[in-house]
Amino acid sequence: MSESNRLRIAIQKSGRLSKESLKLLKSCGVKFNINEQRLIAHADNMPIDLLRVRDDDIPGLVMDGVVDLGFIGENVLEEEQIEREMLGKPALFNKLRQLDFGACRLSLAVPNEFNYQDASSLEGLRIATSYPNLLRRYMQEKGISYRDCMLKGSVEVAPRAGLSDGICDLVSTGATLEANGLYETEVIYRSAACLIQSTQAQDPDKQALIDKILSRINGVVRAKESKYILLHAPTDKLEEIVALLPGAENPTVLPLNDDTNRVAIHAVSTEDLFWDTMEALTQLGASSILVMPIEKMMG
Ligand code: ATP
Ligand code: MG
Repeated sequence: MSESNRLRIAIQKSGRLSKESLKLLKSCGVKFNINEQRLIAHADNMPIDLLRVRDDDIPGLVMDGVVDLGFIGENVLEEEQIEREMLGKPALFNKLRQLDFGACRLSLAVPNEFNYQDASSLEGLRIATSYPNLLRRYMQEKGISYRDCMLKGSVEVAPRAGLSDGICDLVSTGATLEANGLYETEVIYRSAACLIQSTQAQDPDKQALIDKILSRINGVVRAKESKYILLHAPTDKLEEIVALLPGAENPTVLPLNDDTNRVAIHAVSTEDLFWDTMEALTQLGASSILVMPIEKMMG
């Protein structure tokens, strides 16, 4: 195998992380055409190759240095890390940042008729899960012994099928649990997608490209969390009005034509501006309030 000097990034081929991972790379200016049949997609405008694989394979590919970067759920990452540490296999990676998608929780759940007090209610019982390592770590910390039922899929039907007494599975809205006559009793791990890097030495060009992509990702995420706010305010209420704008310490204040009692304020706020704040602003005499999304941010 020849060592490529193109940056290799692993993303989930199809599933809950695929769309958002691709969208994020696109908003960082990486251009590529995905052929559904192909494992690899080459970027047109940067030396980047995308490897489209099952999400379970991504942590290992990064830890073995086969790829440089990976977009992965923290749940899968940590499960693989514990597994590899047990087996004495390489388990190192650098987490570059958490991302704002793929949020979910790994929870214990039991059938509706189960009388659950706390995790010790599961003592000696069988728990179905696809995350045996995260479950074991949690139950060991609580000093509870239970029996394993390892399933890669359909975990939520295990109790009804008579395979287990409870489950430990990923939840986001809880609708799947409800549809299967189960209720969530305990969150054992909170997860979101993250971007990880291999710890293997990178050549300087590759590292510079990684730094560039990371800085662009930071800009895209920061922009999504921020709003651009424009409003007109009475000059004598300026301080009070600025104090109401979340995270907008240094707004631009501009004079208005033919109106010396009022000014225009332009501010970038680190949070959304809620209706009640807008109402409080109008009560202070603010008018023409505009709240706009920001596409990119830098510097
Ligand atoms: P693959 O075929 O790639 O192995 P998969 O079926 O294992 O896919 P998905 O169901 O697509 O995986 O979930 C991928 C990741 O999305 C999860 O590991 C988790 O980090 C995140 N996720 C977010 N919300 C949920 C949810 N409600 N249920 C499951 N996973 C979720
Ligand atoms: Mg998977």
